[in-house]
Amino acid sequence: MRIFKFGGASVKDAASVKNVATVLQKEGHEDVLVVVSAMGKTTNSLESIVETYLNDRGQLKAVVQELERFHLEIIDELLDKDKDPLKEKVKSLTQELLQFLEHNKSPNYSFVYDQTVSFGELISTTIIAYYLKTIGLPALWLDARKCVKTDSYYRDANLDWEETQKQIMAQVNGSNLIISQGFIGSDSNNFTTTLGREGSDYSAAIFAYALGAESVTIWKDVPGVLNGDPREFKDTVLLHQISYREAIELAFYGASVIHPKTLQPLQRKEIPLYVRSFLNPEGTGTAVSKGKTLDPYVPCYIIKKDQVLLKLSSLDFSFIVEDNIAQIFGLLATYQMRVELIQNSAISFSVVVNNKYNRLEELLVELRAKFKVTVTENVNLFTVRHFDRAAKEKVRSHGDKILLEQRTQKTLQVVLKN
Ligand code: ADP
Ligand code: ASP
Ligand code: MG
Repeated sequence: MRIFKFGGASVKDAASVKNVATVLQKEGHEDVLVVVSAMGKTTNSLESIVETYLNDRGQLKAVVQELERFHLEIIDELLDKDKDPLKEKVKSLTQELLQFLEHNKSPNYSFVYDQTVSFGELISTTIIAYYLKTIGLPALWLDARKCVKTDSYYRDANLDWEETQKQIMAQVNGSNLIISQGFIGSDSNNFTTTLGREGSDYSAAIFAYALGAESVTIWKDVPGVLNGDPREFKDTVLLHQISYREAIELAFYGASVIHPKTLQPLQRKEIPLYVRSFLNPEGTGTAVSKGKTLDPYVPCYIIKKDQVLLKLSSLDFSFIVEDNIAQIFGLLATYQMRVELIQNSAISFSVVVNNKYNRLEELLVELRAKFKVTVTENVNLFTVRHFDRAAKEKVRSHGDKILLEQRTQKTLQVVLKN
């Protein structure tokens, strides 16, 4: 079996959905399981529906209707006839969402978030499976929540591998073409959970692992994995081959083309991952597999924007030693700061963190009670894997001031402020 994953950009409108069908016709659709994301920026729209639910409930009906209208317009463009049953299905899904929001009693934000945003994938796959059937592809719609079993850590759920394996084996049996959702799963009470933003790549890897798939192909709006995000760097080149290990490193440092959790399950079973362009399916793309670290062997550039640099020193000029560092890390964990880079000297300790959950102020109150703290917000962290002399100059041109620099044998990291 092969696993394909189509992300939001590849199903953003009617023309894109037609293109998905073309890709499937060209690539073959037998023994293929397709994992699909929400259409375009739908997950963002659903996040703002959650905000409306919390802050402006009177507007709820209107915003859900807007979501419905967006999808109904795509259906109108996609199909000339026999579209009413599909429109009814989509309307009943948006109705279900509205009902949930109108009757929900749970005060748990993350629970409400997951029950809401999952509708993006449920709607997109409903439309796509129906469309494929009308053009003669025998698509079967599969509810990923029956297969992908997780704990109840809503918004960032952890997989129950054993149960997931069991359910996938039970649900997926010898079908021709299966269409399922990325990003979503369910907990032991069958409440919907999600795997974290951009988690659909990971879903594809989960299905692949459980099925012992032949390969995973993620279809993107770029020719494959490049040696830098083309939105940020000029003159990028296509990487034809990357080893699992190198791909894990790139994803870890923030190369957002592959979700970081995707690679481990594939590596464990040595299932190759192909990153290819849905705009140019003839292209060979990138293969992530056992083999050469990097082909061609070039520096790879990664940027993480909007990070926070904290510089801590002791109030009395004493050394920053193990117990202080333990204390600092304890606080960083408590306030959910992802640590991107650390550097220490005798009396100071610098750390770059990602303030993803907006808890910097709370953290600073605690840190300032114990240390002298300097904070620089909105810094950019550049990472260059396999750097050479020219690489540093290239990174330098992206900011005015270097605040911190660190290098190991293979990796250069630079914190820059504009
Ligand atoms: P999806 O549609 O699957 O959600 P994403 O938008 O998450 O796709 O990922 C594709 C985008 O990733 C590209 O448009 C590109 O801007 C960005 N990107 C970041 N780093 C890289 C890289 N090293 N190579 C290619 N694309 C990259
Ligand atoms: N739709 C989800 C998101 O936008 C998951 C994904 O696309 O990977 O985050
Ligand atoms: Mg995405």
